[in-house]
Amino acid sequence: MNPARYAREIPHRYRLEAAKCKKCGAVFFPHRLICLKCGHRQFETIKISEHGKLETFTVIHTPASDFKDQSPFALGICKFPEGVRITAQIVDIDLEKVRIGMKLQVEFRRIQTDGHAGILSYGYKFVPVI
Ligand SMILES: [Zn+2]
Repeated sequence: MNPARYAREIPHRYRLEAAKCKKCGAVFFPHRLICLKCGHRQFETIKISEHGKLETFTVIHTPASDFKDQSPFALGICKFPEGVRITAQIVDIDLEKVRIGMKLQVEFRRIQTDGHAGILSYGYKFVPVI
């Protein structure tokens, strides 16, 4: 991943920060400059809950080249109490045990390594709540 983009995404990538519209209360993740619902431009920063519910998922058998060493893996969309949906890899579970509706927790893990001497990218992944 491009280092500048990586740095720019740190607030939402590391702290799970979303933007809540000060006028209508709509929540966006990642942040937006203009509210999609009412056009307002002022937001407050809120933290997204660590636990969400799996709404849907798929199993990736033929990933992009950067993720070849992790194949096959599950990619899920989780809905959080604040109303936002986040897409991430589901880890620490056998693929055949992944179920829609299961409770998942956000954890920060290494996402990829940019070559032998390159930067390590970290981001969120979902793990089952036990
Ligand atoms: Zn709004």
